[in-house]
Amino acid sequence: MHSTGSNLAEVPPKPAVGLPLWLLAELTYRCPLQCPYCSNPLDFAAQGKELTTEEWFSVLRQGREMGAAQLGFSGGEPLVRQDLAELIGEARRLGYYTNLITSGIGLTEQKIRAFKDAGLDHIQISFQASDAQVNDMLAGSKKAFDQKLEMARMVKAHGYPMVLNFVTHRHNIDNIDRIIELCVALEADFVELATCQFYGWAQLNRVGLLPTREQLERAERITNEYRARLAAEGNPVKLIFVTPDYYEERPKACMKGWGSMFLTVTPDGTALPCHGARQLPVAFPNVRDHSLHHIWYDSFGFNRFRGYEWMPEPCRSCDEKEKDFGGCRCQAFMLTGDASNTDPVCGKSPRHDVILKAREEARTATAGIGQLTFRNARNSHLITKKG
Ligand code: SF4
Ligand code: SF4
Repeated sequence: MHSTGSNLAEVPPKPAVGLPLWLLAELTYRCPLQCPYCSNPLDFAAQGKELTTEEWFSVLRQGREMGAAQLGFSGGEPLVRQDLAELIGEARRLGYYTNLITSGIGLTEQKIRAFKDAGLDHIQISFQASDAQVNDMLAGSKKAFDQKLEMARMVKAHGYPMVLNFVTHRHNIDNIDRIIELCVALEADFVELATCQFYGWAQLNRVGLLPTREQLERAERITNEYRARLAAEGNPVKLIFVTPDYYEERPKACMKGWGSMFLTVTPDGTALPCHGARQLPVAFPNVRDHSLHHIWYDSFGFNRFRGYEWMPEPCRSCDEKEKDFGGCRCQAFMLTGDASNTDPVCGKSPRHDVILKAREEARTATAGIGQLTFRNARNSHLITKKG
């Protein structure tokens, strides 16, 4: 039985609530790859039964009725769901703008065509590196790189706007020039050069993944040089560079505020205000037990960190709280043990020392790719048993 997540007695006075404009449908935690920076929960292999096609239809319908406009299909690898084309078709019928977030493994030209016919707007393919050897080591598959290249070309040939996503970290960030060259050659419209965000498996492997400040600054400088050069050549590709919080003095405005516009539904129907929130010691509701309306407006989980009443000092009296909402609740929990603490990324946090320590660890780390813990069912079961 899923938790009801509706202990309203503990809910602080309700702040004004926005619409759940952005719905993320995590269709499955199954995935043929095993990226050591995957943001899926460590215990993904022990999660409950996936929602059925009909249950997803209901989620999509309710979301649209509540104002959701953007819909991302992600996972795990959403392509392992045999009903993906049906779900895309239903989303189109309801009027969503849809995005498929995929590793490209399991994609075929036939599927690309079928998804187009069903009304898919956008495909984002993720790569692990700019060369086959590193890519396939990180992905845990010998054929991944060639398949991704072929599918990226195919996606473009079928007229989709294409986003290529590279998660960067200390083992691939020094090749940022080769990554950008590859994206230009593949005629990507948008390129996300996203330094690892440390949730799930990435947090477990943080010491082996966090780049040094020097690596990061070099990569950003090279990206800026490419931006200028490509713009001068009239190339419309957009390069988006995302830095990790660990080298900032202020946290990001996580999810633009808790329960303010993002709603994630996980494979077993648990509803979350952000895809990392499952690890928090908060009772989150399930779409099998409650309407999306109840979940968004009335559940304990979605109200827990809304507004400003929940904040401790120094956030409570800080004049920046409307900018960053005290930062990321998951990061506060992972790094301080209390989700209501100020995100330690903030220089004003009394626990900012953990960030300084992580920077120092990155400076002196020597571990190779082989020492990372890969995201697979075996490791997930081992971690769950230990936990
Ligand atoms: S990050 Fe890697 S392992 Fe995780 S879902 Fe995506 S492709 Fe699979
Ligand atoms: S103290 Fe809190 S509200 Fe102020 S800048 Fe830091 S995280 Fe943001």
